[in-house]
Amino acid sequence: MSTKIEKLLQPAAPLFELWEHAKENGTYFYNQPIQEFLKDGKVRVNGKEMGMYASYSYLGLLDHPRINAAARRAIEEYGTGTHGVRFLAGTLPIHDELEQTIADFKHTETAITYSSGYVTNLTVISSLLGRRDYVFSDKLNHASIVDGCQMSGAEFKRFQHRDMEHLERRLENTPADANKLVVVDAVFSMDGDIIDLPRLAELCEEYDAILMIDEAHSLGVLGETGRGIEEYFGLDGVADLNMGTLSKTIPSVGGYVAGKQKLIDFLRIISRAYIFSAALPPAQAAAANEAFKVILDEPERIEKLTANTEQFISGLQACGFDTLDTETAIVPVICSSIEKALLMTKYAHENGVFVLPVISPAVPPGLERLRATVTAAHEPDEIARAIEVLHAGGKKTGIL
Ligand SMILES: *Cc1c(COP(=O)(O)O)cnc(C)c1O
Repeated sequence: MSTKIEKLLQPAAPLFELWEHAKENGTYFYNQPIQEFLKDGKVRVNGKEMGMYASYSYLGLLDHPRINAAARRAIEEYGTGTHGVRFLAGTLPIHDELEQTIADFKHTETAITYSSGYVTNLTVISSLLGRRDYVFSDKLNHASIVDGCQMSGAEFKRFQHRDMEHLERRLENTPADANKLVVVDAVFSMDGDIIDLPRLAELCEEYDAILMIDEAHSLGVLGETGRGIEEYFGLDGVADLNMGTLSKTIPSVGGYVAGKQKLIDFLRIISRAYIFSAALPPAQAAAANEAFKVILDEPERIEKLTANTEQFISGLQACGFDTLDTETAIVPVICSSIEKALLMTKYAHENGVFVLPVISPAVPPGLERLRATVTAAHEPDEIARAIEVLHAGGKKTGIL
């Protein structure tokens, strides 16, 4: 390698070393191809059949026949790409239809879509805010929110995780006439816990702050019909901006933000990811559009996810695992060290349970974990088996 590249990559040297070490030990678990989707939430990885406990497809919609068919029809009609960006020649009828579907599903006036959830947070936050404005962000918010806040140039105020008193002190200490945006995950992507929306909404009202919620892990997961956190708390319409992804419960790719007509109109003429980046491919837009309809047509999936989540969390807790404050399909299984998290993952894979570890610096040292997820595709006996495997692994590795 040339020395200029070596010099540039120097800060990453410890990370390269860690991964090399892990590969030698057989504890490198990342970037592994999922070779085949099997029935009942199972997959084939490394030639081995395993229960899939690392999926974001919370309602088991990935590979759904109706959604696949919609994608195929869109390819037949329009091909695989578009004529450019949405703002110019990239818009197809399916894009407008998808945005209408999202707005209807979320009970908002309208919606706008982008090419990923990551890009949505980046472009929406940085379009809305500028230098003299203030943004308030939960300490455990997703990286895309953090990046969007930083990119905006606004005063970036973090508050302690789910600590509404801390947020209030932050808001109190802000000039009353400043533009303020409070942005939070509805369900936190590492811990699975839920933001206190009732109190948050009161604070935003009281301090005249705009409220933006990231529903990446709550769409299809929270609320009786899967509409998300506002439905869960019976607080329709309290968020000004409902952001979400089309790549988790919705088995496609893309991101959206739903809300008031004026705000969305503004984003359509201002946000750089809309104006300078290609439109969603027709197949992905059509798949996403169909997926929202499937959620409404097959409400039993939400019931099943809720039951599976309860079984999984209570089963792991009964074994003695610390699962933090999760109440959702994201279930952290705390292992307390990098070594234990990696050994635990290895044991799980050897015994047919596909989970993945999350280690520091992605989570604080001491909170290294398996980040397990449960979906509507799992059957109760399969979940019981996964709990048994993790129980045995926990004992073997000294976590329990
Ligand atoms: C996954 C995720 C995103 C990004 O979504 P993509 O569509 O995968 O880019 C944004 N916010 C949260 C909370 C997420 O978990």
